[in-house]
Amino acid sequence: MKHKLLVLFAILTMTSAVSCNLRQPQKYQASFLILFNTITEIVGYADSKEDFEEFAQFIHDNLKEYHELYDKYNAYEGINNIKTINDNAGIAPVKVDRRIIDMLLFSKEMYERTNGTVNIALGPVLEIWHDYRTEGIDDPTNAKLPPMEDLIAANAYTDINQLIINEEESTVYLTDEHMSIDVGAIAKGYATEQVTRMAIENGYTDFLLSVGGNTRAVGTKGKTHELWSVGIQNPDKSSEQSSIHTMAITNMSLVASGNYERYYTVDGKIYHHIIDPNTLMPADYFTAVSILCEDSGMADALSTAIYNMPYEEGKKFIDSFDNVEAMWIFPNGERLYSEHFKDYIKVE
Ligand code: ADP
Ligand code: MG
Repeated sequence: MKHKLLVLFAILTMTSAVSCNLRQPQKYQASFLILFNTITEIVGYADSKEDFEEFAQFIHDNLKEYHELYDKYNAYEGINNIKTINDNAGIAPVKVDRRIIDMLLFSKEMYERTNGTVNIALGPVLEIWHDYRTEGIDDPTNAKLPPMEDLIAANAYTDINQLIINEEESTVYLTDEHMSIDVGAIAKGYATEQVTRMAIENGYTDFLLSVGGNTRAVGTKGKTHELWSVGIQNPDKSSEQSSIHTMAITNMSLVASGNYERYYTVDGKIYHHIIDPNTLMPADYFTAVSILCEDSGMADALSTAIYNMPYEEGKKFIDSFDNVEAMWIFPNGERLYSEHFKDYIKVE
């Protein structure tokens, strides 16, 4: 009941051009703050406020289950989650929900397909960066970089093949106590995709779901059949132009990775949260990249992957997929695009 109130509280009825015609579905919007440590926004068209509330509740409740399963920081009563798996590293296999097994299998597949540039077993290295970043944000004058020898020592425990998944037993085991998994690059997009598919199976046809910038568009804007408009944030926050492009999409995800969300500053230089497994340092080829493709889990993984690859390699990599488009934004502001990315830019 508590959660129900939370969602309903945030629902807004949008002013709609067709609001005087009662038969036309109206536009509604809901948002909530707690899941995946970010903002979730839902936009949809419905015949009544009650219909939309039911839909928003459905999305919220399912996303919340994924959030708890994929949480690496908090334990929940009666649930084995990513934290449980990490706490049991080197101790014992942990019995988990099928939704964890499937996400971890997808993550292993992504590790292979991205030549290791997205590695959920990078936990020990990412934890060091996380600690230095948190301290650097709390106390900027004393912000420091982690010593390279510490990063190299941690990297000895990042072999994804030592993440053992037993599908029959539904268990997951990290074979060394120093290991840990961090699903930050994949889980949000993967959960967004799974919940979207559940909504479609339940008959919801036209909506836009955005979980912390992982945006998934389904159908169109109600009866008008207009495509959904989604902005791409300008990584240059000093610019007056807050978004770079507005995209017009349907049945498609748009996901960005960039250096402007989570970072700290050491000696005037920005150190952000996407770590190149080859250098163990934040990748600095781009200020941001964007991926367009249907599957939101794939889009999340691929955006982190190309952020960690030089442009030439990333371009070839993206071209090797069907129906995946990308945009790369360089530190000097220059932008490059895959072949059909610009087809989705909305013509105002
Ligand atoms: P965000 O979700 O913040 O928009 P990403 O999808 O690019 O951005 O994921 C970044 C997160 O993924 C980091 O906070 C960290 O937890 C994790 N991460 C960073 N580098 C890697 C990497 N090379 N492989 C796998 N996970 C990573
Ligand atoms: Mg990602």
